Amino acid sequence: MHIQEGQSLKSMNTFGIDAKAKYLSIIREISDLETLVKSNLFKEENHLILGGGSNILLTKDYNGLVIKNELKGISLINEDNASVILKIMSGEVWHELVLYCVENNWAGIENLSLIPGSVGAAPMQNIGAYGVELKSVFIELEALHLESGEVHTFDKKACDFGYRQSVFKNRLKEQYFILSITIKLLKKPKLHLTYGAINDTLKLMGKSKPNIKDVSQAVIQIRQSKLPNPSELGNSGSFFKNPIVENEKFKELKLNYPNIVAYPAGEKHTKLAAGWLIEQCGYKGKRYGDTGSHKHQALVLVNYGNAKGKDIWNLALKIQASVKAKFDVDIQPEVNII
Ligand SMILES: Cc1cc2nc3c(=O)[nH]c(=O)nc-3n(C[C@H](O)[C@H](O)[C@H](O)COP(=O)(O)OP(=O)(O)OC[C@H]3O[C@@H](n4cnc5c(N)ncnc54)[C@H](O)[C@@H]3O)c2cc1C
Repeated sequence: MHIQEGQSLKSMNTFGIDAKAKYLSIIREISDLETLVKSNLFKEENHLILGGGSNILLTKDYNGLVIKNELKGISLINEDNASVILKIMSGEVWHELVLYCVENNWAGIENLSLIPGSVGAAPMQNIGAYGVELKSVFIELEALHLESGEVHTFDKKACDFGYRQSVFKNRLKEQYFILSITIKLLKKPKLHLTYGAINDTLKLMGKSKPNIKDVSQAVIQIRQSKLPNPSELGNSGSFFKNPIVENEKFKELKLNYPNIVAYPAGEKHTKLAAGWLIEQCGYKGKRYGDTGSHKHQALVLVNYGNAKGKDIWNLALKIQASVKAKFDVDIQPEVNII
C-alpha cells in the first residue's frame, strides 16, 4: 500500500481545482482498503473517498487522507430470457458501464449516458437524468464500514434513495466505502423518451423505431450540446439541486413570474428549475475573474482556468443569496463541498 504526500488533485476533480492532498492512497484491491482502514494513518487523519471527482468542490487543500477508488471488474451474476443481473466494482467508470450494457442490448441505464464519475458514487446521490434514476435498476450494494472494517449489504430500501439523495449522504455520511453495486437490466427495453429533448433528437436522427443504442446516442448528443465538457472547461455539472416547494408557494410565484419553469413533484409539491431562477437573477454567462455561470446553462458553475475552489464557492453563495432575495426560495448545492 503506497501513500503519496502533498500530491496535487487537479487531474482528479472535474472542476480542475489545484488543491493538494496531505496524503493520497490509490486503492486497486479490497485487501489494500482493508489494510488502510486498520492503519494508524487512517485512524489519525480525516479522510475523503474520491471516485471521478465530478461531484466535489475542493475549497482548500485537503488536510487528511484522500482515498482514490480504482476497484475494477464487472461480473454477470445471473441471466434468464428476460433480464441480466450485474455486479460492478465501484471504481469502474459509469459511462463505460452504460456503453458496455448498451452494446450488449441490456436496457435500463441508457438515459444515464455520459454522466461522469465512478460507479461507486452513483448510489451516493442516486444519479438521475432524462426521467431515469439509478434506483430504477438498483438491487443492492456492498460497502465497507470504515470503523469496523466489516462489509455490509444494503438493499434498495436500506439505501433510502430520493432526489439526489441516499442514506450515504445523510444518516450514514462518511461512514462507508461503497465497494460494488448490483443492478438488474432488461433484455426487452422499456424506453423513456418523453423527458427533455429525447424524442425530438431521435426524430432529427431519423429514428422512428429507436433501440437503446439510439436513445443513448440521443442523450449523448443532447448533453454535449448543453453541458460543457470538463476536460475543456472545469465544472461539476449542475451545481445546485432543483428546489422543491409546496404547491401554494408555486402558485404565488407563477402569479408574479408566469414563465417560471417547473415540474410536478408528487401531489403537494412542485420542483422548480434552479437554472431558470439563477438566470432570472442575471448570472447566466457572467464571468467573475476565472469563475462564472455557464453561457448555455446558468446552473453550471465553471472554472475558466485558475479559479480557486473558494472563488467558486463564494460565487455559489452569492447566487444562493440572490435567489433567496428575489424569489424567497432556498437552493442547495448538489455538489459536495469539501
Ligand atoms: C458535466 C457533468 C454532468 C453531470 N451530470 C449529472 C447528471 O445528469 N445527473 C447526476 O445525477 N449527476 C451528474 N453529474 C454529477 C456527477 O457526475 C455524479 O454525481 C457522479 O455520480 C459523481 O461520481 P464521482 O465518482 O465523480 O464522485 P466524486 O465526485 O468522486 O464523489 C462524490 C461524493 O461521493 C463520495 N464517494 C465517491 N465514491 C465513493 C465510494 N465508493 N464510497 C463512498 N463514497 C464515495 C465522495 O466522497 C463524495 O462525497 C454531472 C457532473 C458533471 C461534471
